[in-house]
Amino acid sequence: MATDPSDCLFCRIIGGELPGDFLHRDDVVIAIRDIAPKAPTHVLVMPREHVQAAANLTDEHGAMLGRLFAVAAQLARDEGLSEKGFRLVTNSGAGVGQSVAHLHFHLLGGRSMGWPPG
Ligand code: AMP
Repeated sequence: MATDPSDCLFCRIIGGELPGDFLHRDDVVIAIRDIAPKAPTHVLVMPREHVQAAANLTDEHGAMLGRLFAVAAQLARDEGLSEKGFRLVTNSGAGVGQSVAHLHFHLLGGRSMGWPPG
């Protein structure tokens, strides 16, 4: 898993160097459809800032996270998930499945899901 921002897949998508199916873009947060969806709706919501993972978050990221969660909630409404529900999850560390070292939240919905995840 690449940890250098200059070699970061999502930084390259955010910067326009690689293509992405964008659902949202603002100064702080972007959202793209996942290239290999695990549910009928599978969107990745992430900061423009290169933060490696949730493990690296501090109080200084509060405003960014507020924006990120507001965008995720709006996208869930836009995708028609408000009533049936959705899951918003992040993997922090390769040991639990993080494959891209740029903080991102998976917005998943449109099918039933068990808990806890396997
Ligand atoms: P994670 O494994 O939690 O780090 O999530 C990374 C996600 O990025 C996976 O669900 C991948 O399917 C997704 N992904 C990988 N490459 C791309 C890409 N070029 N565009 C959109 N999503 C991608």
